[in-house]
Amino acid sequence: MAIDWIQFEANSTVLFDEFLAHRIGLIPLTSDEVVDKMVYSRDCTCTDFCQDCSVEITLDVKGTEGSTRQVTTAGMVTSDSRVVPVTSRRCDADAGEYDEIDHEAPFQWDAKPNKFFFNIETCGSLRPENIVIHGIAALKKKLSDLQMSLSQEFQNDALAI
Ligand SMILES: [Zn+2]
Repeated sequence: MAIDWIQFEANSTVLFDEFLAHRIGLIPLTSDEVVDKMVYSRDCTCTDFCQDCSVEITLDVKGTEGSTRQVTTAGMVTSDSRVVPVTSRRCDADAGEYDEIDHEAPFQWDAKPNKFFFNIETCGSLRPENIVIHGIAALKKKLSDLQMSLSQEFQNDALAI
């Protein structure tokens, strides 16, 4: 999940809106628990935004006069506690989760390959296993759609002859 739509109410910084929107859009958001349940806003039945298709994140910070204020993701308030900037996630909850596990196949010159190992790196918005599971599900759906289209094409060709 990523920040897709930004509305500025006031921006009195030296940085223009587009620059800030670009920077904010690069912030990864945790979405492991909601990625399956949400729909794209363009596919949603609501007229504007609802909790099924959006999460509202508010950033309301103000600097004191004469000093520089650092604005970080810590100032972001989200309407859904499951969707937070990755950097705001509690570290102790995930401690040890990302320990590297050494997977290495035993090497034999004459062996016939029957398995493979690969590494997945993530920015933290999705767990690696969810990335693989969702990727396989998307591939499976595309292959199923292709198979369905091909079978319909063959039926149409058979009827045409
Ligand atoms: Zn909606």
